[in-house]
Amino acid sequence: MNTTAHRTDFLNQLLSSRFNYWFGYVVNLSLVGWFGSHVVADGRGLVSLPEAVLWAISGYLTWCIAEYLTHRYLYHNLALLGIGHNLHHENQRSLLGIPWYLTTLVILGIFHGLALVCQPARLGLFMAFFWLFYIVYCWVHHCIHHVQFKNPFWRSLQKHHVLHHVRPDLNFSILMPVLDTLLGTRYQKRERMK
Ligand SMILES: [Zn+2]
Ligand SMILES: [Zn+2]
Repeated sequence: MNTTAHRTDFLNQLLSSRFNYWFGYVVNLSLVGWFGSHVVADGRGLVSLPEAVLWAISGYLTWCIAEYLTHRYLYHNLALLGIGHNLHHENQRSLLGIPWYLTTLVILGIFHGLALVCQPARLGLFMAFFWLFYIVYCWVHHCIHHVQFKNPFWRSLQKHHVLHHVRPDLNFSILMPVLDTLLGTRYQKRERMK
């Protein structure tokens, strides 16, 4: 077996654990709760409701941009991460997930780094929403490959991502397909231009 095959085999074993796949949801929901807990002190919320809505919108937008950039430039351009992502492209219905302990280390590192310069209550709220949308992304992606949607909205998200599996150089976003339109990587637009 050559080095690439060894690496692919090792990554396949690491990513394809069912325990890793499902326990990741438990860990990530716990992280959202922990991030969100920073907004409460002595039983009182430290941020007003309108401000919390703004942090929710910020968390959604930031997640969608991070998701697009990660998918386009890391998963489809970095050799090591690309091997793991290729496994999903080869077998769309397999339960592959980035090990939860790695994502936990990264997100906690980001939180503690930013906490040096940001207010913990507001940072915690922002990170709670950011990570909540990571969970939503994981679940929507799971359903795209395992559920036949009837609702037009979910069907449009499904179609958008299924086309990415046909054309891996296009349609990178899952939760905000308009990003592909804005950044020139939308499938249908390209096809019409040809
Ligand atoms: Zn997929
Ligand atoms: Zn991909």
